[in-house]
Amino acid sequence: MNQIVAGHEAALRSRTADWPTADQERLQAAIRFAVVKHGAQIRRSGEPYVTHPLAVAAVVTELGADADTVIAAVLHDTVEDTDASLAEIAGAFGPSVATLVDGATKVAAVRGDDPDALEAARLRKLFVALASDPRVVVIKIADRLHNLRTIDALAPHKQARIGRETLALHGPLAHRMGLAAIKTELEDRAFAVAHPDEYEATRKVLADIPELEQALDSARTELVAHLAANGIDGVVQARIKHAWSVHRKARAGYDVESLHDLLGLRIIVATLAECYAALGSVHALWEPVPGRIKDYVAKPKFNSYRSIHTTVHVRGRLFEVQIRTQEMHREAELGSAAHHAYKTHDDPREPQWLRRLLDWQDAAEDGEYVEAVTEELGAEEIWVLTPTGDVLTLPVGSGVIDYAYAIHSEVGHRCSGAKVNGKLVPLSSRLRSGDRVEILTGRTTGPSLDWLAYTATARARDRVRQWHGRVRRARTRAAGESALAALLSKHRTTPEAAAPLLLATAGLSSWEQLADQVGSGHVELLRLERALRGRTAAAPAPADTPTPHGTVRAPDAGQVVAPGLSGIEVSLAGCCRPAPPAALIGVSSRARGVVAHRASCANALASIEDSPGKAVRLLWVAPGVRVSTVHLVCDNTPGAIARVTLALLDLRADIETSSSSIAEDGRGLQHYEIVHTGSRSELRKALRAIPGVRSVSVD
Ligand code: MN
Repeated sequence: MNQIVAGHEAALRSRTADWPTADQERLQAAIRFAVVKHGAQIRRSGEPYVTHPLAVAAVVTELGADADTVIAAVLHDTVEDTDASLAEIAGAFGPSVATLVDGATKVAAVRGDDPDALEAARLRKLFVALASDPRVVVIKIADRLHNLRTIDALAPHKQARIGRETLALHGPLAHRMGLAAIKTELEDRAFAVAHPDEYEATRKVLADIPELEQALDSARTELVAHLAANGIDGVVQARIKHAWSVHRKARAGYDVESLHDLLGLRIIVATLAECYAALGSVHALWEPVPGRIKDYVAKPKFNSYRSIHTTVHVRGRLFEVQIRTQEMHREAELGSAAHHAYKTHDDPREPQWLRRLLDWQDAAEDGEYVEAVTEELGAEEIWVLTPTGDVLTLPVGSGVIDYAYAIHSEVGHRCSGAKVNGKLVPLSSRLRSGDRVEILTGRTTGPSLDWLAYTATARARDRVRQWHGRVRRARTRAAGESALAALLSKHRTTPEAAAPLLLATAGLSSWEQLADQVGSGHVELLRLERALRGRTAAAPAPADTPTPHGTVRAPDAGQVVAPGLSGIEVSLAGCCRPAPPAALIGVSSRARGVVAHRASCANALASIEDSPGKAVRLLWVAPGVRVSTVHLVCDNTPGAIARVTLALLDLRADIETSSSSIAEDGRGLQHYEIVHTGSRSELRKALRAIPGVRSVSVD
């Protein structure tokens, strides 16, 4: 066998020397299989092709992968690039290895012409593979690392493309999966080929900082001596922040020299108790920066990273010191979650960022999907607490709406308010790590399009848009169907009899399409009516032909009230001709006051969607019934809302809406719209009698 191949094989076998004999034999057989199958294939560098899978397998062993994953890495290109079949691999190496090779092959096999579609398709495959077995992605990341180590043979523009893809995808994925051991090398190699000029500039910035290496060395020496003097037995590592990370900070406007983690020291000890002893010892040696002690042992990061971090001043420079046990170190470097398949989607090991991307991929267009992935992978996460104390992670910048949708789509759709750390907050509030969040749900008209302005997750935005699309389509069709039904009954005909004529008039092929087009106003009822009249020429033209946008003053308009607004003129819309008990929606216009439409009316929804501020709440009320708006100021004590609610129900008032907030002085504010038959003074009196209520206004 070729000398170079023999060298790679020996390197791989030396890393697996402690494996059980059976696994070593399977590995040996896999190496022989790959050598035979790849045969005379050569890489662009001129080396035998099989050196590549052997080197990838060696990287995979460094990450602590199991025998199946290492064997699959040896075989990862055989199905794609040789005449080997999956059945052959399953027969020789077992179904588990075959599944891993299949996953790696499928991710690689996406080919096509449209670069956008290609990128999205490749991402989808990768995430499906990741969800079914993260070990496939460990192989793909190791594959990419080896390709970058040997990228010189490629043309510069291909190098740049591979580098950019790695920075956007493989680097963040390695980070998400906790594969710190190879992430730094992966990103710096990718940076060097993706943006050669900026890479050199960043290296120069680091090289130009005087005595950086010396500062690192002497701090490390000092720390080693100090720990020994304090009886703490640990390994001390030192590093300068890697070039890609420095570049990102510099691009974000930070001054490189004053970064708190440009210089890093790491202490690895045996026990958690020694971690805290080491922390105390570091703080005795060097002055800590207030507020920069991070205990990721008590609260692990999203990728299950555990360590204690602190930042200290060392002779005019900032150092980040990480303290961890050997076990935490192994997990941080090798990614404990990267080596297990998630059996079900309830598996708590399945990271939430992955779940979000999988949810999103079904709904999104190709371009949006790539954007969503980039966004999710690029962002750091925050962790917040549910009312029951469970931890939920969200991207940085997430707000209460993102949280509500992360809990459940229905919770998002029905969200009417939120409490953070026990206090009511606006729905536009952003969340911070450690916040305890509670979503209030209630009778609402569904998600508001305004929410799109303060959501950070693709999932929440997608769900809001979906809801609006679905509801609008349903309402449009219902409006069209009722308009058509009215038209047909006026002309004493049936859908069966009239359909051929009406569909021909509108140039459509189905009744549903016709209802949609009528509901959205694309087909005017007047045109259909003319067609029907032309057919039944004897039928008299009705006097009150509905026109899509006209309003008709109805005799019973006085029964429509706009809660909280007095003295406004309300008229009934001509397009949908609302009648009790149909739900109403008001559209305010400067010319005509408020026009009452059916809540399902497509015209009303269209005008409100353009400017949501035009919407006015309207109610039908029977004679003798009044609608009142109640404002209360009360002590902010538990049960305050319940007491007021009970009092209102005692008065047999129907609560239409309610909301509450906290005033600057800490008092509670409550607001209600109620429908009731009693007098307002009676209402005032009853509410003032409630303990804790300080003032009441009713109008
Ligand atoms: Mn490969």
